[in-house]
Amino acid sequence: GFKCGIVGLPNVGKSTLFNALTQTAAAQAANYPFCTIEPNVGEIAVPDPRMEKLASIAKSEQIIPTRITFVDIAGLVRGASKGEGLGNKFLANIREVDAIVHVVRCFEDSDVTHVEGKVDPIADIETIETELMLADLESLEKRVDNLEKKAKGSGEDAKVAKEMLDLVKRSLVLLRDGKPARMVERKPEEEKLFHSLGLLTSAPVLYACNVDEGAAATGNEFSKRVEARAKEEGAVSVVISAKIESEIATLPAEERAEYLEAVGLKETGLDRLIRAGYALLHLVTYFTVGPKETRAWTITKGTKAPQAAGVIHTDFEKGFIRAETISCDDYVALNGEAGARDAGKMRLEGKDYVVADGDVMHFRFAN
Ligand code: GDP
Repeated sequence: GFKCGIVGLPNVGKSTLFNALTQTAAAQAANYPFCTIEPNVGEIAVPDPRMEKLASIAKSEQIIPTRITFVDIAGLVRGASKGEGLGNKFLANIREVDAIVHVVRCFEDSDVTHVEGKVDPIADIETIETELMLADLESLEKRVDNLEKKAKGSGEDAKVAKEMLDLVKRSLVLLRDGKPARMVERKPEEEKLFHSLGLLTSAPVLYACNVDEGAAATGNEFSKRVEARAKEEGAVSVVISAKIESEIATLPAEERAEYLEAVGLKETGLDRLIRAGYALLHLVTYFTVGPKETRAWTITKGTKAPQAAGVIHTDFEKGFIRAETISCDDYVALNGEAGARDAGKMRLEGKDYVVADGDVMHFRFAN
């Protein structure tokens, strides 16, 4: 599954938001097996109303949503890369994440101390980003000598070292210029190696602008500045009120819609964050549906059928023959697999088929 790290300066509302999101997710996922792992790690079920429809038609015993793991990474302050605060131990926590949710304080409240003295979301973002870039700079500089030695050798190891050294050098040029490693231009085939560098500034960023209750529906001057910055750097931003989200988390499901409407919102912050995250990471969902279970699977946009099958099991990918495919809309409109087949809406797709969001798939494979 996907893993998100939540970062931000102290007192910006990270814990409030994190607790609200995991509580809301737990409530929404009352029908699913669900667990919260540790105090600062939450595993949430990705809500997707299509699953209920599919499951009811197929009379599935169970619904299994995809999951996203959130890691609340507390303690990032100015000087963290030099070992202040939680320092390096803390930084190790974010090396493995697929995306960063950066919570930014966009609310004024004289009762809540701002560690930097005043509310200034852009300055806050830069403080955090600088710490992360300094840590990356240091870790890459340490690797250059060793990689140069390895690259001089021969064989496969030397070839990989050479490619890696190249990526390291390109990353260093940007970092020394005060730019995050995610801006390194790279070919699709370099992606895996780049990811393996474990850089803190290589994951895509989603800014969560924590605003006052009154600005939840509209955003405010602070959140607009963040939004503009996100646009410049190819990130995304979401306006969210941690206070409102904590309210929602305590409400019974039947009162939720009414409350959302009263504060001028269409969806919970959880739903909006997840949608923004899927867009940021170019993720889509396909389903497997049967009497045992209706299950959602997350893949990257552009994934072909065999690799999509490989998310379920490597054998499915290796022995892939074809995929019986029905769009979710057809499956629902034609009341299931038999109806869809009779109407000619079940397609037999081969190994070059690019899986579409909402596809209901049945993989045929040879052992
Ligand atoms: P963290 O240090 O980033 O995890 O921040 P917390 O979630 O612990 O919040 C710090 C303080 O700010 C707490 O007293 C929260 O109640 C308060 N807080 C969080 N979000 C908001 C908000 O949107 N508006 C206001 N006024 N206070 C908030």
